[in-house]
Amino acid sequence: MTETLHKVVDELRQGEAYAPFTNDPNIFKKKFYIESYGCQMNFSDSEIVASILHTEGFGPTRNWEEADLVLLNTCSIREKAEQTVRNRLQAFRKVKENSPGMLIGVLGCMAERLKAKFLEEEKLVDLVVGPDAYRSLPSLIAETESGQKSVNVLLSREETYADISPVRLDGNGVSAFVSIMRGCNNMCTFCVVPFTRGRERSRNAESIINECRNLFEEGYREVTLLGQNVDSYDYTNADGVTVTFGPLLEQVALVSPLLRIRFSTSHPKDITDDVLHTMAKYNNICNYIHLPVQSGNTRILQHMNRTYTREWYLHKVQRIRSIIPDCGLSTDVISGFCSETEEEHQDTLSLMELCRFDMAYMFSYSERPGTLAARRFADDVSEEDKKRRLTEIINLQNGHSRESYTADIGKTFEVLIEGDSKRSDMDWCGRNSQNKMVVFPKGGLPLKKGDYVHVTIFSATSATLRGEMV
Ligand code: SF4
Repeated sequence: MTETLHKVVDELRQGEAYAPFTNDPNIFKKKFYIESYGCQMNFSDSEIVASILHTEGFGPTRNWEEADLVLLNTCSIREKAEQTVRNRLQAFRKVKENSPGMLIGVLGCMAERLKAKFLEEEKLVDLVVGPDAYRSLPSLIAETESGQKSVNVLLSREETYADISPVRLDGNGVSAFVSIMRGCNNMCTFCVVPFTRGRERSRNAESIINECRNLFEEGYREVTLLGQNVDSYDYTNADGVTVTFGPLLEQVALVSPLLRIRFSTSHPKDITDDVLHTMAKYNNICNYIHLPVQSGNTRILQHMNRTYTREWYLHKVQRIRSIIPDCGLSTDVISGFCSETEEEHQDTLSLMELCRFDMAYMFSYSERPGTLAARRFADDVSEEDKKRRLTEIINLQNGHSRESYTADIGKTFEVLIEGDSKRSDMDWCGRNSQNKMVVFPKGGLPLKKGDYVHVTIFSATSATLRGEMV
C-alpha cells in the first residue's frame, strides 16, 4: 500500500482532508460504491466497511457504474425491505454484464438471514457478508477476484469493531452515528434482529468516548449513540469496572457542553430513572427518547414477548414526563400482529391517546421467516384489517404530531444548524433538543453548519417548525 495512501487515510481519519469521495487515481487504485438500507445501525456499519476498504486501497465513489465493487448493506425487518434490495440488484444487471471485473456484494441483515442461499437466488451477487464478518472483506474480495463466490456470515459474541474508526460517508459534517453495542438479547417474537445480528455485546466504553472526542475535534457537534437496545449497555473493563448506559451517557456529555448527544433505541423494560436523571442533569444531552411500544394491549405484548405490560409502558412515559417535562417522545407501532382482536387494536389507539407521541414509525405486521412468530403463530389478521388498523393508527398519530408541533408556536428553541433547508438555500435547517426539524431564514448573518442559534417558532406543520432567529 503506497505511503500516499497511508498518509491520506490517516488524514481522512483526522478529518483534515475530509474528501473521501476523491477522484484522484493516485490515491485510490480501486473504487467501491455502497448503498445502505434500513436502520441507523446499518448506516453506521457502512462507515466501518468504508474504513476497512480504505486500508485495502478502495476509495468510495457515488457513481456505481464506475465502481470495482458495488455493495448493498441490506435490511430484513420486513418483506418489503428485502424486495427493495432484489429490485435494486436488477438495476445493476446490465452494467455488471458489461463489466466483468465488477464485483457485487450484499452485506447486513438480509445477507445474514439468507446466507449462501443468496448466491443461488441472485446470480448477480458475488459475495455475501454478515454484520459481524466485515473484517474478512479483504480476504473475501481477493477470493472473489480469483473467480470464486464468497460467503462469511459467522456471528460473533465479541465483535464490536471498537478499534476501527469509521470513515464518515455522505454525512453533513455536523452529526455522526457512534455504535455502542451490537446484537440483541431480547427475543421479540416478530423480530429477525437476534438472528441476523446475534447476541448482545457492549463496546469498550473508552473507545466510545475517544470516538466522540475525536468527532468533536473534527468539528462535529452532535453524536447519536446507537444500539438495538442502548439501555442494556453493560461493559466491564479489564479492571472489573462496569459501565452501564447512564454513566456512559454522562462521560460522553462531559466531552464538551457544545457536543449534543442523542441515542437510539431505548427499551421500555430497561430504561432507568438513572438515565432520565442524567439526561435532566446535562443540557447537551437532548431531551428526546425513542421508546418503541409496538402494541397498547398487554396480551399482544406478551404474544410479542416484549416483556412489559401496557401499564408498565404508561408508567415509564409518566416517569419520563415527570423527570424531563419537555422531553420529545417517539415510538414504533405494529398493527395486526398474530391473533390481534379489534378490541386489542383499540387498546393501541387508546394508549397513543394517553401518550400523545410527537412522532411514530408505524407498520402492519410482516411475518419474517425464522422468527418465533413465523414458526408458532398463524398470521391470521387479514391484510384488509391490517391495512385499516394501520390507517387508523397513522391518522391518529398525524393528529397528535400536528398538535405537538402547533403547540410549539411562540416558543424559542436552541437549534443546531445542520445545513441548508431542502426547500431553499436561503434558509437554514436544524433540529431542536426534542428532535424536531426547524427551518428559518439565514438573514445574511455569517453563520455556518455546526453553529447553535435561538429560533422563535411562528408556524408549524406535523413534521416541521418554521421560525425566526432571535
Ligand atoms: S428489542 Fe426486540 S424488536 Fe428490538 S431489535 Fe431486539 S428483538 Fe428486535
